[in-house]
Amino acid sequence: MFRSAAVSSLMLGMSLAPAFAQSAPVAAPAAPITTRCESPPLMAAFSLFGETGRMPPDLGRFLSDAALQRIEPYKAFDNVYYVGICWVSAWLITSAKGHVLIDTLYGPFTDQLLANIKAVGLDPKDIKLVVVTHGHFDHAGGMARLKAALPPGTQFAMTEEGWTEAFEASRQSVASGRNPWAMIERDLVLQDAQTVKGGDVAIETYKTPGHTFGTASFAFDAQDGSRTYRAFTVGGLGLNAIQGPEQVEAFIASIKRIRALTETGSRPIDLHLTTHPFSNGLTEAKDRIRSRKAGEAHPLVDLAGFRHQLDGLQAGAEKRLIVERQKKAN
Ligand SMILES: [Zn+2]
Repeated sequence: MFRSAAVSSLMLGMSLAPAFAQSAPVAAPAAPITTRCESPPLMAAFSLFGETGRMPPDLGRFLSDAALQRIEPYKAFDNVYYVGICWVSAWLITSAKGHVLIDTLYGPFTDQLLANIKAVGLDPKDIKLVVVTHGHFDHAGGMARLKAALPPGTQFAMTEEGWTEAFEASRQSVASGRNPWAMIERDLVLQDAQTVKGGDVAIETYKTPGHTFGTASFAFDAQDGSRTYRAFTVGGLGLNAIQGPEQVEAFIASIKRIRALTETGSRPIDLHLTTHPFSNGLTEAKDRIRSRKAGEAHPLVDLAGFRHQLDGLQAGAEKRLIVERQKKAN
């Protein structure tokens, strides 16, 4: 059966063109990229997407497959839950006075997100603030659905540039008529180094342009028994939406800034709670939370792994910068 590139463009391509532009339709491979959500094959597909700027058809099919995307939600820290899907994360940071959600998923997966929150014993209506990393469909596509499902006072926040890019991506999806997704009206505008609160959850925002110019990253506390760790969510990881050398330069500067946040400041970063679980082996590491014995280190506290990931992102961007500079010169 062919579910050619049309399906993937239905889900993502048209709404994010040119960032998620399609390659020419090719015969569907016999097997999906993965049926068990393992990191390595997804990371390979993600890297290919970043290098070419074109979504591999098998990745597009994978993104729209509800059965393959579903993963069990889980408690990552005492106050942090993973409520996302295989491809893209949604993190719920909780407090007795209300919760903060990072990212909104897309299409039918936003309803999955709401179901995941209930499955871990929490009420989506206790979400006070939704912060969105950037304006691409897989992170911002669920904002309208959430706004309809959550109480009227729930706040939604992005950077100024993030709002702009989300409006544009939504507009393009409507203009194309394929899988149109609606945006909400502009709400909170995040500033660099600003701390915003939802309930008793404090989220520190960093503007980290690069993946897109509007990308924001977030720092917050993750509780593990009597220990409090400083967690960080890098808002954009891929080079799939690069439009010139200036954007790659911004990406590199943001990565260097994040690296410095792991080394200096009053609350250095301890760990990475990623926007894409395959990007740092979260998918595999999470299984070790359940089997963790008393006294063992928390499986997601891996500062060396985070720095290694940042080094890899920077090295990839430096290679890309050479290409983009050559393109611009020609
Ligand atoms: Zn993106």
